[in-house]
Amino acid sequence: MSVEQALSIIKPDGVQKNLVGEIVGRFEKAGLEIIAARMIHLSREQAEEFYTVHKERPFFDDLISYMMSGPVMVLVLQGDSAINANREIMGATNPADAEPGTIRADFAESIEENIVHGSDGPDTALQEIAFFFGDGGICPRTRQDCTKWPPARSNSNRRPHPMWPV
Ligand code: GDP
Repeated sequence: MSVEQALSIIKPDGVQKNLVGEIVGRFEKAGLEIIAARMIHLSREQAEEFYTVHKERPFFDDLISYMMSGPVMVLVLQGDSAINANREIMGATNPADAEPGTIRADFAESIEENIVHGSDGPDTALQEIAFFFGDGGICPRTRQDCTKWPPARSNSNRRPHPMWPV
């Protein structure tokens, strides 16, 4: 297993149904970390560019209308085999074919309104992450080595961290 990053989108129906917390909770329970998150209402131009791979498909116009129909939540997930892990948590494209307990089996209405998007491979993950977060917004999971704010001062006058107030 190797650590990967995957783009996830909670689509307009998922946001409308107030499932953001439920879906993020499923990712976190599976050991995936959120390293970027942003809410956005896609323009036609953005939706068409994001789904350009499907532009010849008969459902393209409906897909674009659906993706523009309300705000979406875009996330970057990080973890071991994050791309496949996310696809398993999502379930099959058509909720009728999705395994019980997957997001799409539990919440999706149809093959179109299927609640979530997830990158389907390493190359598309890179492209999709750059599409939404190319100008910043990825937050590496680092944390300063301090657990208390402000620090206890009983033992010494030394300031143990440069950011702590004098
Ligand atoms: P995904 O990777 O599982 O999201 O599936 P695809 O990349 O094949 O399709 C992209 C999105 O287009 C899906 O998530 C659906 O929202 C929509 N879609 C896929 N197949 C169909 C279809 O046969 N009819 C309609 N109306 N929408 C579809």
